[in-house]
Amino acid sequence: MPWDSQPASPAEASVRLPVGTMLVRGAMGRCPVCGRGRLFNGYLRLADECSNCHEPLGRIRADDAPPYFTILIVGHVLVPFVFMAEKAWYPPMWLHMALWLPLFAVLSALFLRPIKGAVVAWMLRLGLTGTEHGAPIMPAPPREGSPDA
Ligand SMILES: [Zn+2]
Repeated sequence: MPWDSQPASPAEASVRLPVGTMLVRGAMGRCPVCGRGRLFNGYLRLADECSNCHEPLGRIRADDAPPYFTILIVGHVLVPFVFMAEKAWYPPMWLHMALWLPLFAVLSALFLRPIKGAVVAWMLRLGLTGTEHGAPIMPAPPREGSPDA
């Protein structure tokens, strides 16, 4: 690839960035493209756009992928300890529930945000920006005679 001195647009830059860099930036809650702007506007709500490079982030829909990966990862981290505790001490079921359920909940809450950031970065890298099906949905124009006209 020849050297390009022209600054790339954010969309072009995201295609050139290594996937690992974008995943780490997303997991840290930073804009996957520039690494400076904030990815989230709240706990899990995406910012409408990056405050630094103005990459439109709010249209990216990760849907169920972040909870899926969170359950997958947290489950694989904790379930071996559940089985080891059961095999070693045979604790009563109420003790399992009192110990593991809150631990699952806390770890899931801690993992969900960085995993969502990484999923959004991955989607951005793949070009899944929420505009795959054409132009963004616009509100219908007001009809004649309606109070908005
Ligand atoms: Zn940015």
